[in-house]
Amino acid sequence: MTAPAAAGLPADEIVRALLREDLRDQTAYGAPQLDVPAALNTNENSYPVPADVVADMLAELARTLPGLNRYPDREFTALRRALASYLSRSGTVIGADQVWAGNGSNEALLHLFQAFGGHGRRAIGFTPSYSMHSIIAGTTATPWVAGTRSADPGRLFTLDPESVAAQVESAHPNLVFICSPNNPTGTAVGLDVIEAAYAAAPGAVVVVDEAYAEFARPGTPSALTLLPGRERLVVTRTMSKAFALAGGRLGFLAADPALTAALRLVRMPYHLSAPTQAIAVAALRHTDTMLATVGVIKEQRDRIAHELAVTGYHPVPSDANFVLFGGLADATATWAALLERGVLVRDVQIPHHLRVTAGTPEETTAFLEALAALGPRHQAVVPAAEGA
Ligand code: PMP
Repeated sequence: MTAPAAAGLPADEIVRALLREDLRDQTAYGAPQLDVPAALNTNENSYPVPADVVADMLAELARTLPGLNRYPDREFTALRRALASYLSRSGTVIGADQVWAGNGSNEALLHLFQAFGGHGRRAIGFTPSYSMHSIIAGTTATPWVAGTRSADPGRLFTLDPESVAAQVESAHPNLVFICSPNNPTGTAVGLDVIEAAYAAAPGAVVVVDEAYAEFARPGTPSALTLLPGRERLVVTRTMSKAFALAGGRLGFLAADPALTAALRLVRMPYHLSAPTQAIAVAALRHTDTMLATVGVIKEQRDRIAHELAVTGYHPVPSDANFVLFGGLADATATWAALLERGVLVRDVQIPHHLRVTAGTPEETTAFLEALAALGPRHQAVVPAAEGA
């Protein structure tokens, strides 16, 4: 380090030279965090944590904080039990030893890559999908295979068992990622797709990212039901979306106890702070209250999809708390024009498409009115399929 500094090189060039080659041309992941009237770009829950839950969190913190001189419970025992009982509400009994958690499901995903991926191994996902899957693959030096989804206009972005099985078979992966409902498309898959991926990759851990599961329309099954007897299957969830706890940073997963035990090999000791555990435990004591907004959010999602279709855009059917829609002449220009009107949506780099989070009725109205105010020149004259 002394030599280049002495040569008078700027710090960013010195750091670049020191950095891993594969990271040198990367840009950091991160959606804009702007103070706007309608922040609809990161699929958060727009409703604040209710006052009675805040009060209980404060009480739990008051019991916890004097003990901060000690490391937190490394096994997050109370939290695991609470998460297991929450997941068991799905109808599949999940034991505490089947649960793992991290600071957001991103950290739980990182643990999966650290334990089962890495140099000389391979992971596959089906794009467009949650970009952190491939980004974490990159940071853990896991070669990534970008699988594809249907481009058929009538079934845009869907996955079918045959295509998934064929893609998985030819990739020979150690890790398979299926996001359902999928971000950024909102598309949920049938259990037959997950079963097909599992059967096609006997040497792989199959991860179903269900961050948005609570918003799925009736009849959309959770992959939790497939866990019994499948020791290589993992279902990830988060408290960041339906649970309205994005700032609490708590994500979790369910899998066979042998698999969750393996994740201890890669986690940092005491990775879940005592305040994090306390807040999440308190939130889970109020599960029904915390999830009470899911119904109204789903109504706004369906309202957005309906209104967009009526006005000539092409919303993709969604089981999540957001809608991806096509039919834009220039997605980046529309993104900027909406922001000028105080509405922040997400440009997910799919040509002619933007993604909007379903928030409060007022936020939905602000989005729909801002889009309408832009006028027809923002609309593409191409049919939906070409926009994909
Ligand atoms: N999975 C999916 C599909 C997501 O969209 C997100 C967040 N946008 C996450 C996982 C990670 O969320 P968190 O780390 O807040 O749990």
